[in-house]
Amino acid sequence: MPSYTATALVIHRNNLAENDRILTLYTSELGKISAVAKGARKPTSKFSGATEIFTVFRALLATGRSLDILSQCEIVQAYTPLRYDLERLARATYFCELLDRFTMERDPVNAETLFQLSTAALRLLQETEADPDVITHAYELRLLAEQGYSPICDSCVKCGREITRGQVGFSPSLGGALCSSDRYGAEDSVSLTAEALGVLQSLPELDGEALLALHPSRKAMQEVGRALRWYIKLRAERAIKSADFLDQLRASQ
Ligand SMILES: [Zn+2]
Repeated sequence: MPSYTATALVIHRNNLAENDRILTLYTSELGKISAVAKGARKPTSKFSGATEIFTVFRALLATGRSLDILSQCEIVQAYTPLRYDLERLARATYFCELLDRFTMERDPVNAETLFQLSTAALRLLQETEADPDVITHAYELRLLAEQGYSPICDSCVKCGREITRGQVGFSPSLGGALCSSDRYGAEDSVSLTAEALGVLQSLPELDGEALLALHPSRKAMQEVGRALRWYIKLRAERAIKSADFLDQLRASQ
């Protein structure tokens, strides 16, 4: 069997018969792949730690007839602290589901960028005290941008005029922001304050430190969250389970 190496992030896993696991991996080299980790559910397995969701490992894989087989792996980053904080665990799980939903199997275009983007978001989530929703919405917008699904936030999706200020709207079905005159111009429009629009416009441009320096108001974050929630749901064409859980978690605060 031919084999190859890859640096992989575990984004999903399922149990198979006989103690095996099937892993969905996002690799820096090939994009998304599925692989079987044989015997991974046995406590003594060499794979037992590595097959946890959002673990990053360096892997040797063998090309199988239908599914590739994980032969060896060495953990690079386990993101262990994320697993003990429900707020951060829920968001990390959501990042992985979103990456899974917005990528196709074995599409190497953008693979390295998406791998870096996703592991950087997990690292920020783990290592900083920043508002985890700032990191979450920045990740959503960057991922959408890389995959060609960016919402339009600098001009009105109805009349095309540049949006400068004031209370505006956002329509998930029309794909972005609505100017103050058109803000009720779509059935699904939700309102956005100027601050929330500013957050939507600036988040995809900001990295690391600049992102952490951003302290939007709670109201602006709620508006951004609601707009992106419906926008992503529409673009993903299927429910995102971890987003429902995140909604419940946010509502309980
Ligand atoms: Zn307009």
